[in-house]
Amino acid sequence: MIIPPQHPRYHSLLQREKLVEAFKRGIVVPQGLIAHGRGECFDYLIGERTTEAAKKAIEAAAAALLTARHPVISVNGNTAALVAREVVELAEATGARIEVNLFYRSREREEAIAEVLRRAGAKEVLGVGEDASAMIPELFSERRRVSPRGIYVADVVLVPLEDGDRTEALRRMGKTVIAIDLNPLSRTARAANITIVDNIVRAMPLLVEKARELKGRSEEELLGILKRYNNEEVLREALMEIWRNIEGWFRRGLTIEFPKQLPEGF
Ligand code: ATP
Repeated sequence: MIIPPQHPRYHSLLQREKLVEAFKRGIVVPQGLIAHGRGECFDYLIGERTTEAAKKAIEAAAAALLTARHPVISVNGNTAALVAREVVELAEATGARIEVNLFYRSREREEAIAEVLRRAGAKEVLGVGEDASAMIPELFSERRRVSPRGIYVADVVLVPLEDGDRTEALRRMGKTVIAIDLNPLSRTARAANITIVDNIVRAMPLLVEKARELKGRSEEELLGILKRYNNEEVLREALMEIWRNIEGWFRRGLTIEFPKQLPEGF
């Protein structure tokens, strides 16, 4: 489908097209399309732009990845469909390893996602087939299967588009978890150490840029960024941004008309 660039929802529709295309190729599952819809809703409320709060989280995320001993970027179908190139660029900028990790795991899907990443320039992709032989304790979905060279031994894990259970399980294993999630109220957002409340398509290029910018800085400076960072405050700011946007729409004359008489049986 060709979307005219002047369409008011051009970027949003383009993302949908990419996901539908990836769905047809077996990279994205139907549940992934629905999860994206939940994200879209929050993106609308957040104003479809990167907020100041998200920028703070992006800076902290870059600092955490650069100071980690074993940083890993966990990739699922939606992430591969939307930002494969940026995943590879971020891995190069920070020395992170890339690992495929799926809720709905099948050998074909793992291979298809690894192939997308390799085509985007990845030299190594962990978590495919036999490599996903280690287990995250207390987790019962297929996401518990991880690479003993990757997520299992990682100290910092970037989990774009994660589910709450696994974020909590990774935290219990003592890992620093960085999430990208448009919903500031999700369990993932609240359980992560650093939550970037932004669309993955906007956040990832900014994260790559930030990592490149901070790469030459001293360890002391990077640790200082992490020390000053407060995730709870960032989540509160993200919610306030949504609140301000809603207020703004009302101020500009958006009124909700309630029917004078409620329909029978209401
Ligand atoms: P949790 O288990 O953390 O409470 P959930 O059940 O909503 O959250 P899922 O349905 O597994 O989690 O994941 C979807 C999440 O990913 C949603 O919170 C949604 O806001 C977010 N999301 C979807 N698409 C994007 C995107 N493009 N960028 C950022 N976040 C997104």
